[in-house]
Amino acid sequence: MIIRGRCVKPEATFEVVNPATGRFLANAPDATPKQLDDTMEGALAAFHSWKVDDAARVAAMYAAAEVMERHAADLAQILTAEQGKPLRESVAEVETTARWFRWYADLDITPEVAEDSDVRRVVVHRRPLGPVIAIAPWNFPIQSAGKKAAQALRVGNTVVVKPSPFTPLATLKWVEVLQGVLAPGVVSALSGGAQLGSWMTSHPLTRKISFTGSTATGKLVAAAAVPDLKRTTLELGGNDAAIVLDDADPAAIAAGIFDRGFVNCGQTCAAIKRVYVPEKLHDELVDALAAIADNKVVGVGTDPTTDYGPVNNRIQLGIVTDLVEDALHKGAHAAAGGTRHDGEGYFYRPTILSNLDDGVRIVDEEQFGPALPVMSYKTLDEALARANDSKYGLGGSVWTSDLERGEAVADRIEAGTVWVNNHAQTLPHQPFAGAKWSGIGVENSRLGMLEFTQVQAVHVAR
Ligand code: NAD
Repeated sequence: MIIRGRCVKPEATFEVVNPATGRFLANAPDATPKQLDDTMEGALAAFHSWKVDDAARVAAMYAAAEVMERHAADLAQILTAEQGKPLRESVAEVETTARWFRWYADLDITPEVAEDSDVRRVVVHRRPLGPVIAIAPWNFPIQSAGKKAAQALRVGNTVVVKPSPFTPLATLKWVEVLQGVLAPGVVSALSGGAQLGSWMTSHPLTRKISFTGSTATGKLVAAAAVPDLKRTTLELGGNDAAIVLDDADPAAIAAGIFDRGFVNCGQTCAAIKRVYVPEKLHDELVDALAAIADNKVVGVGTDPTTDYGPVNNRIQLGIVTDLVEDALHKGAHAAAGGTRHDGEGYFYRPTILSNLDDGVRIVDEEQFGPALPVMSYKTLDEALARANDSKYGLGGSVWTSDLERGEAVADRIEAGTVWVNNHAQTLPHQPFAGAKWSGIGVENSRLGMLEFTQVQAVHVAR
């Protein structure tokens, strides 16, 4: 744990498992309420100086980006060991985080002058909130916490990071690395279980909760924020639909759909989680997707030939296995995969399911793993109605040879982000905001950063 700039020896620990072996990897610190108090007080003390000097913040964020890039290879080793993803993707995760730090460092945050007339001057400031907590899931541990930190820090907040108990190690190391360039208390990190999360969300010194995780936990976080009216941003689950239009060429789009469905072994909030394809293109697309799946190498993340590592944890493997078995039991066809992959870890073959429909659990629920159902449709209106008939609204996509038509169809998808001929690509300048049960508020872009601020209008009468 990193508290007030120092690595603190834990009083208690919990075990972290390597998903590629299913065996013990290392012990992680299990933070106590007293250590949380100390961390929050340290974050508040640091806030008073961090918030005042914009130029110093920009310089520190540049230094932070540089130091994380310098340690990318070491951080990636830890990340792959606890998360399972291929090493090159772990390196990319650290590098993406560094890019986010630079992008926010470069952002102009000059206050807006709303009026400057003979009678008055009105200036709209965006003031920082104070200590922010960043609660992250296990799929992109460093990136998820890091993007939050970049946005919060830029506008003068301090940050306390809580990684998932499945993947605490790389995040703790990442925050340790940052201590070389940030003042004590500017970024801290505590690990622990769900209990730590709820202590943090109800802590009196927490001024903002930036949470990424499941919808079920997001609702608990929202409820915990109410008594103290803490600001919250919730980035939650999704069940993104990809709609293939009748002008699309299955051979041309299959690789893109596959890649965006199985990104991070399907453990991506805004991955494609169900595909709707016109009847006449269905078989060709399923065959093309299945051929790609059959050629993918599943294995340990440290092997450079590996395309997909293991599912991150036993619980998630159980969810994916149950959903696929339920679909097969109800008559679905596994065009590829449908089983676990050999090996002692939590490996699962990339799975393409056909001959199934809405109402089957894997279509209606979030699988968050390497299995993708493909359904046929008769009319576009029907496909849109089925895509939108979901409690979730994180992302969606349209696949077509006609970009103008694709954009018009995108307008009709109820989701925070809709891609045409792409999916699950996030960019620092592109806002990311879940609709319906997929979240509250925005991350990324200037809009996301502003969620870490309080508006203050200063009105000077002349
Ligand atoms: P999770 O909700 O189980 O856990 C997320 C984090 O919340 C963990 O750090 C966990 O320890 C913590 N937590 C648990 N109980 C808590 C509580 N009562 N109060 C505060 N914190 C608590 O989610 P997960 O299984 O780690 O991640 C997978 C889910 O996250 C999927 O549903 C996925 O779609 C979603 N996700 C969403 C986005 C997004 O940006 N919308 C991104 C990645 C993942």
